[in-house]
Amino acid sequence: MSERFDAIVIGAGAAGLMCAIVAGQRGLRVLVVDHANKVGKKILMSGGGRCNFTNTGTTPANYLSANPHFCKSALARYTPWHFIELVERHGIAYHEKELGQLFCDESSKQIVAMLLAECEAAGVEIRTHCSVEDVQQTDDGGFRLRTSQGAFAASSLVVASGGLSIPSMGASGFGYQLAKQFGHDVLPTRAGLVPLTLTGKHAERLHDLAGVSLPVEARCNGVSFRNFLLVTHRGISGPAILQISSYWQPGDDLRLDLLPGTDLDALLHDWQQRRRDAELKTLLGEVLPKRFAQRLCEHWLANKPLRQYNAPELRAIAELLGNWPLVASGTEGYRTAEVTLGGVDTDGLSSSTMMSKRVPGLYFIGEVVDVTGWLGGYNFQWAWASGQAAGAALGS
Ligand code: FAD
Repeated sequence: MSERFDAIVIGAGAAGLMCAIVAGQRGLRVLVVDHANKVGKKILMSGGGRCNFTNTGTTPANYLSANPHFCKSALARYTPWHFIELVERHGIAYHEKELGQLFCDESSKQIVAMLLAECEAAGVEIRTHCSVEDVQQTDDGGFRLRTSQGAFAASSLVVASGGLSIPSMGASGFGYQLAKQFGHDVLPTRAGLVPLTLTGKHAERLHDLAGVSLPVEARCNGVSFRNFLLVTHRGISGPAILQISSYWQPGDDLRLDLLPGTDLDALLHDWQQRRRDAELKTLLGEVLPKRFAQRLCEHWLANKPLRQYNAPELRAIAELLGNWPLVASGTEGYRTAEVTLGGVDTDGLSSSTMMSKRVPGLYFIGEVVDVTGWLGGYNFQWAWASGQAAGAALGS
């Protein structure tokens, strides 16, 4: 005999908990199962322990998906302000860091505690350490799950098992397998919001600068992000690189403007007029981190007093500083990636309810779906919004 629920949610992360809360508030009997030892592990580790729980500037343009329109409906119906209202109701203090990114003042534990309190109030049952071994559809159109804690049945099943990033935190490809089992397409997955690795010349020339950080504009495939770059022991990271990594694939042309917002021709012309005897590396050391400027002049730019450069040489320097080609060899992979790009093809899902178009009663929400946000609170906003969309639709 299976214990029966109206809905079972696989995955007690951001999306699964939100979905369960909304469905529970509607009077449905909901069970959430998770194979990890505690709920919301990624929430706990997010935002450096302070959880960047939303972004007030969220728009569909902040997401990557094979169908950029898919996320519109859910995001429009559950906005950052809905989540902020919930956070305020629970008395959680927060602040805006930059560009609409909201963080807890104290700890991301407060967000998990808030979600658990809401689950309890809505009568949601949560089982951790619960591995799902098998899922089958029953004759009445419902679902039967065999788990490490026994068998459960429900008329609706929500897959909120997340992506592949940070396997040590409980990430698994389970949601993709389940999608395929029920006839859904799964688009190729890859690590997103992830540091890039360098090999060869670039790696040799930069690796001992690990820790050096500078503002850049990173450009790839027609997209650009202006923020900080951080040199690491294995390559490059920092918000500008994490952002552009979601748009980069091996072999793609990646360019960095090392002095974004600066008219480089004018700057070099000015130096040539006023600082004629100063060497390029000295002058660049005034506008870039000194060691980085020196390294540029050792390997990429000829260093000499400014008066000795002719016009084409100055032009070439401006071009290199404004459009530095950096050949990345790969990414750090799922081990350190914040998100997984690709996933369950949105073509098979309703954008208003997240329900499968093939299997009534089956839902996919959160990161397992082919919707991936930029860095800055957008991924949680998608988890809340898609979770809300499914939670409001379950059983109707
Ligand atoms: P998850 O939160 O990953 O939850 C999935 C759940 O399913 C997990 O609890 C997992 O244990 C469970 N599960 C998986 N497989 C199974 C299975 N077979 N059986 C049972 N349970 C299973 N986004 C932001 O917006 N802001 C941030 O500040 C931010 N910081 C981040 C920092 C880090 C280090 C990382 C890795 C990610 C960060 N993200 C951030 C991204 C964000 O955490 C995710 O996009 C979001 O958690 C996705 O929510 P989800 O509910 O879809 O999946």
